[in-house]
Amino acid sequence: MHESGIYVFESKNYSGWIFGTETQQYWTQTLPIGRGKTKKSKFFNPIIQNKVHLKWLQQFLEYERQLPFYSYIIFSDRCTLKDITLTSGSHFVINRYNILSAVQSNSANVGIQLTPKEIDNLYEKLYPFTQIDEAQKLAHVENIHRKQQAITNVAGMRCPRCGGILVIRTATKGNRQGKKFLGCSNYPRCKYIENISGEADSREKL
Ligand SMILES: [Zn+2]
Repeated sequence: MHESGIYVFESKNYSGWIFGTETQQYWTQTLPIGRGKTKKSKFFNPIIQNKVHLKWLQQFLEYERQLPFYSYIIFSDRCTLKDITLTSGSHFVINRYNILSAVQSNSANVGIQLTPKEIDNLYEKLYPFTQIDEAQKLAHVENIHRKQQAITNVAGMRCPRCGGILVIRTATKGNRQGKKFLGCSNYPRCKYIENISGEADSREKL
């Protein structure tokens, strides 16, 4: 937090080459594995992830006005940001060694956006969230590993009906509300869905 606004960092500890665009659901990491070969893996688009964080913060902090948030996706210095396409101008994707200069130049550009009173108030509301114990940290890390496993299994799976890519979705209504399932990326043209366990769902419409 700074008089120029609230900086929201999503930090990624990856190596290798990173490719992605602002709107893609998944980004790609390419790792050399020797003899000129590479291994590709996918991970959830960190910009979308951070957008959710910003939205949550804006709601939680209960301010009438839109707070001055800046979204930074920070990659470790071991990776090369190869082909990252940013279109909206409201997110920054940088290596760790660039944080200081990026934040300095942003704060010089935007000037003072928060009053000292606002900063105190925001600090008070957010401080309890910095008091996280070891058990909660462990649970968070385990949760990430489980999600990564699910993405790896799904990456590359195709819709048996139309050949579209299957993506993880969350049911928004019905008795399975909140549950995850696989849906065809060609929805609504193709309504194929599958339980996350792998069987075709009985509710599937033709
Ligand atoms: Zn399909």
